[in-house]
Amino acid sequence: MSEQRDEVIAYVGLGANLGDSPQAVRDAIAALAATPGVSLVQASSLYRSAPVDATGPDYINAVACISTRLTAPALLHALQAIENTAGRERPYRNAPRTLDLDLLLYGDAGIASPDLTVPHPRMGERAFVLLPLREISPGLIGDEDLQAVSLQVVEQLGSFE
Ligand code: AMP
Repeated sequence: MSEQRDEVIAYVGLGANLGDSPQAVRDAIAALAATPGVSLVQASSLYRSAPVDATGPDYINAVACISTRLTAPALLHALQAIENTAGRERPYRNAPRTLDLDLLLYGDAGIASPDLTVPHPRMGERAFVLLPLREISPGLIGDEDLQAVSLQVVEQLGSFE
C-alpha cells in the first residue's frame, strides 16, 4: 500500500441497504480503523435515508473522519477491499448493496483521475452525507449547504458506539 510522509485528514461516507445494514456500517468503520496507515478520528451517528436514484430498503449511512498516511489512490483501494469483504455484488447500476464506501474529502486535495474524483462529486446533493459530516465537522458545512438538500428525509439514529 503506498504511503506518504504526512498524515492527511480524510472523510469517508458509508452506506448500506441490504441485510443487517447498521451492523454492516459498524463493521466497516471497525475495518477502516484497523486498516494499516489509517487511524479513526471520529465516526458520526448512524442515519437512515430513503434510496436516492435507487431501489430497495432504506439506507443506513454514516461518515467517518480518519487520519491517514495512505495516498488517495491507496485509500480508495483500501475502501474497495472493505466493500469486497462485505460481499458487495453489483448486478446493475445503483443496485441495492451490502456496503458502499465513498472517499468524500482528502485533505484539501482536488483530484480528477479516471478512478477517483475528490471532493466526491455528488456529496453536496446528498443530505445523508452532509448531515453526518456536519455532526462531526460543523465548520465544513454551512447552513446554505443544508438548505440545498432540506427536502430529503434523513433520520438521525443512535450514536455509533
Ligand atoms: P460506486 O458504485 O458509487 O461505489 O462507484 C464506484 C466507482 O466510483 C469506482 O470505480 C471508483 O473508482 C469511482 N470513484 C470515483 N471517485 C470516487 C470517490 N471519491 N470515492 C469512491 N469511488 C470513487
